[in-house]
Amino acid sequence: MKSVTLRHSGETATVGKVLCLGRNYIEHAKEINTEIPEHPIVFLKPSTAIIGSGDNVMIPPISQDVHHEVELVVMIGKDGKNIPKSKAYEHVAGYAVGLDMTLRDVQHEAKKKGLPWSVAKGFDTSAPVSTILERKFVPNPHNLEISLKVNGEIRQKSNTKNMIFPIDYVVSHLSTIFTLEKGDLIYMGTPEGVGRVVPGDTLEAELESVAILHVGVAAYNS
Ligand code: MG
Repeated sequence: MKSVTLRHSGETATVGKVLCLGRNYIEHAKEINTEIPEHPIVFLKPSTAIIGSGDNVMIPPISQDVHHEVELVVMIGKDGKNIPKSKAYEHVAGYAVGLDMTLRDVQHEAKKKGLPWSVAKGFDTSAPVSTILERKFVPNPHNLEISLKVNGEIRQKSNTKNMIFPIDYVVSHLSTIFTLEKGDLIYMGTPEGVGRVVPGDTLEAELESVAILHVGVAAYNS
């Protein structure tokens, strides 16, 4: 069982599921040559994918091309189904910064063949996440600088104002499909600048005045 920690209360919450959005920033959709979707593209990671600050992303032997995707993460604080947009924030416990680590070579093969993304997106350690900053401390989650450094060099830099689908819409929309439960995490999609990481790299993800997350990259010994 994996859990996340709320920073101020020290409370922990068990994570049931991790819901992720694809293509929620226009510039990223352009860089991967895809169209802007009408509805958010949604995929899942198992909770076993979660790691925290100080841990290592472990590259599984099936991939030679692992990419970083820095993302705003929303933690659900109250169960709900068919949540109206006007009540969406009542179901949000807080925010974090996370990385949607992606086996890009495996994902390309899957896309080509029309196969699922579970392996490319859901492998162990594919969901690093920081501690959660409670919602009351984040007055405007749609105007925060978001960035990622690899070995101290900036690779991704954007602002959450560039997200196509806002948080209240996403919570409401997802709850028409999945019951949202306390502890569930929603990864809100990545801005442009995704790229490869290799064993030995150090990653620093930052969401302005919310959180900083540090992880390393390693491979399993064969
Ligand atoms: Mg992503």
